[in-house]
Amino acid sequence: MNSEELFNESKNYMPGGVSSPVRSYKPYPFFVKEAKGSRIYDVDGNSYIDHCIAYGPMILGHSDEKVSKSVFDAIKKGTTYGAPSENEITLAKEVVNRIPCAEMVRFVNSGTEATMSAIRLARGYTGKNKIIKFEGAYHGAHDYCLVKSGSGAATLPDSLGIPEDTTKNTLSVPFNDEEAISNLILKEGEDIACIIMEVVMGNIGCIEPKKGYLEFLRKITEENNIVLIFDEVITGFRLAKGGAQEYYDVTPDIVTLGKIIGGGYPMGAFAGKKEIMEMIAPNGPVYQAGTFNGNPISVNAGIATLNQLNENFYNNLNEKGQYLRKNIKDIVEDLNLDIMPVGLGSMFQIYFNPKDVLNYEDAKNSDSGRFFEYFKELLKNGVFIPPSQFECNFISSKHSKEDLDLSLEAIEKSLKAVF
Ligand SMILES: *Cc1c(COP(=O)(O)O)cnc(C)c1O
Repeated sequence: MNSEELFNESKNYMPGGVSSPVRSYKPYPFFVKEAKGSRIYDVDGNSYIDHCIAYGPMILGHSDEKVSKSVFDAIKKGTTYGAPSENEITLAKEVVNRIPCAEMVRFVNSGTEATMSAIRLARGYTGKNKIIKFEGAYHGAHDYCLVKSGSGAATLPDSLGIPEDTTKNTLSVPFNDEEAISNLILKEGEDIACIIMEVVMGNIGCIEPKKGYLEFLRKITEENNIVLIFDEVITGFRLAKGGAQEYYDVTPDIVTLGKIIGGGYPMGAFAGKKEIMEMIAPNGPVYQAGTFNGNPISVNAGIATLNQLNENFYNNLNEKGQYLRKNIKDIVEDLNLDIMPVGLGSMFQIYFNPKDVLNYEDAKNSDSGRFFEYFKELLKNGVFIPPSQFECNFISSKHSKEDLDLSLEAIEKSLKAVF
């Protein structure tokens, strides 16, 4: 069956024909046959350079040989035990050694679980109820955070099924606005357990913190006994060995991880200061549990991935990112287009917006309809990115210079076609 036929079949059995809403686009998404390295192949016989890479996890490209071997090795010894195993310590040490704020780790199964648990921990630790998130930030699909959320939720109305009693404790403010957060803390500071933030907002495109903003947040949270949580599900192990907190040199109290940490297998984690992490059950009174937590498959894949991510790896990857972004900028200038290429490290995006994008409001003012046309042109030209203005694009270490040159050609052609 081709993609169209598969879609017509799948929508009878799965809502919208997909297992996660961002995968859906009109008239129907391509169905994947396989993926290897920098490429993804559909059942219709097309090959694409993949800049979606599953929304971030595949930093070594698809089907990395060392990662696959580590998984084959693990499978032979069972797939989940309900009892601890030594490799969990190996991976926990890797996390602690790399990430500045991490002294202890709890492994979970997704980024969603990581942020949900980290928020519960912050509430348990401080004895306070309210949380602050930023408009347009996405922290997974759980009730605490689906308020003015990014990613797929940015394109839909706020979700039904979430009790007001839950979200009345979730306060949201614009990103990159010191006054907004100062005022909120002045008003509600006594009750605020944590600020949770994407250091770089990768679920509403790609927005960097203004200079000094992270330092400001670190200071104001310290002064008000508020736990600072960096949600590094995208940026962790991507921007640098120690993630965005190393890249920007600001250390939070808790970090949440996902995507890359499982090497392409389901996994998340949260980590932080010992004093806070010791509050987690069975040591402390904040409950968190999971049948598949720390399962040997994801753990082995995580170790085999992190083992390859050394300083040199990041220098190469970020250098490629810079090459791609510089050339995108040149293309946009040569074509005289009033749009904004953005990004850092191995992350990139183009805002179809004439103005600098500093927050959710700005991002929402972009021409997302025209962006979708651009996405479709890119597909025709052999490049796959997420089908939305409100996502980020990535490169993996398997993207060669030749791949990037092909992507640049496709980007130029596609921009010409839509403007
Ligand atoms: C993807 C993402 C999540 C959710 O992770 P899942 O593994 O999809 O549950 C949370 N926070 C951020 C910043 C993310 O990008």
